[in-house]
Amino acid sequence: MTVFLVGAGPGDPQLMTVRSKALIAQADVILYDRLIPPGALDGAREDAELVYVGKIGGGPQMPQEEIDRLLIQYGTGPRTVVRLKGGDPFVFGRGGEEAQVLRAAGIPFEIVPGVTAGISAPAYAGIPVTHRDHASGVAFVTGHEDGSLDWDALARFPGTLVFYMGVKALPRIAERLQAGGRPADEPVALVERGTLPGQKTVVSTLARVVEDAAGIKAPAITLVGPVAALREEIAWLEQRPLFGKTVAVTRARAQASALAAQLRELGATTVEAPAIRTRPLDVALPPLRGYDLLCVTSPTGADQLFTHLRDARELAGLTVAAIGPGTARALRAHGVEPDVVPERAVAEGLVEALADLPVERVLIVRAKEGRDVLPDALRARGAQVDVVALYETIAEPLSDEAREAAAKADYLLFTSGSSVRFFADAGGSLSGPKLVSIGPATSAVLQELAAAPDIEADPHTPDGLIAALIADQ
Ligand code: SAH
Repeated sequence: MTVFLVGAGPGDPQLMTVRSKALIAQADVILYDRLIPPGALDGAREDAELVYVGKIGGGPQMPQEEIDRLLIQYGTGPRTVVRLKGGDPFVFGRGGEEAQVLRAAGIPFEIVPGVTAGISAPAYAGIPVTHRDHASGVAFVTGHEDGSLDWDALARFPGTLVFYMGVKALPRIAERLQAGGRPADEPVALVERGTLPGQKTVVSTLARVVEDAAGIKAPAITLVGPVAALREEIAWLEQRPLFGKTVAVTRARAQASALAAQLRELGATTVEAPAIRTRPLDVALPPLRGYDLLCVTSPTGADQLFTHLRDARELAGLTVAAIGPGTARALRAHGVEPDVVPERAVAEGLVEALADLPVERVLIVRAKEGRDVLPDALRARGAQVDVVALYETIAEPLSDEAREAAAKADYLLFTSGSSVRFFADAGGSLSGPKLVSIGPATSAVLQELAAAPDIEADPHTPDGLIAALIADQ
């Protein structure tokens, strides 16, 4: 079958191509390297065979002959094979060599280019590899050379020099280029872990770079040329409001991912540490005829509600109240525009918003462990209230990795009181990071188990949480 030689980009999973994602999702076998983006294989089929062919530990690379042998072995079989590499497969990725091996063996192949580190790491550092005023060409060079580089010719190259694998060779690069005529004050930049959390950039000059970049480790791109100085003007990554901050999100995975993605857009590094998940309960919804008000108190509740409805017209004539904007969004996604959405996204807010609405029979759908503020208040007004728990929230064990990463985060985010309890029960640490609560009910549990939160969101919504984090910078 066809072997796909696929570039996975430099590290930021968002820079993976559409084609690479589709092929990963489809592959029977994936042969992958060490320098592929975190989570790159998440989209692989559950029954796909994942074969690691990168460096063993921090040690030697699997010999290329062994990789070639595996490519031929799998490529000759009936299965679809993806050979996944960091960056672009044809830029210092041995993709050309592997294509030759496949051609010689008569195995069909396709090449899927990727975003290469030599352009993207500088781009994330605010350095354009070409520029009309400063560089009319760019050369990609391996720093890991065997003595065959013509350094004088390189020094004379009229443009930017981009070195891959050039950290160890930095002293030689600096010395040879100066010997070849590049000025001692020529700008040089090193970008370590480009496009990944923890990206680090040093800008210096040929004369000083060995000293200035002593702390830089592989993988890094070394870039030589006047464009390196443009970083001062163009750097953008560091300007995002949450740059350099690590935020741990403890809510259920399904919802955590959307929140985490938003935080990453703002420059944060995120840790997903879900200590909680929701589980539908096996209940029957009473006939909706006869109620005049339906209250939905969470997005999960909204989603669950529709698994119980056979016909959307069952909701006809009902006034529908949603506790907050997330719940309202979930209802809208099912084609229902809520009539009442309180400004304050807590039960107390909904009670206020319903103050002037004459109600006799109310149905509240919610989580098993929901608070009784809303039913109590409505009953106090003389309404007949039925509460149906459509789902429950249950503990999710924390992996050691998630627990440790959360403990080291700058911020620990909680979006419900039960997630605080489950997080603590799962051995999560409530001391260390700044505690951030979505609202008073969550804060009360934090106060009970550890301490009052450092930050409480207002409004009590995920957007409110994000705004509160930004305001804390
Ligand atoms: N095919 C890859 C390059 C593989 S060679 C590509 O097109 O990007 C490995 C070298 O790539 C590393 O030594 C380093 O110089 C560079 N590299 C890969 N990922 C990088 C990253 N995230 N940041 C900086 N340099 C990176």
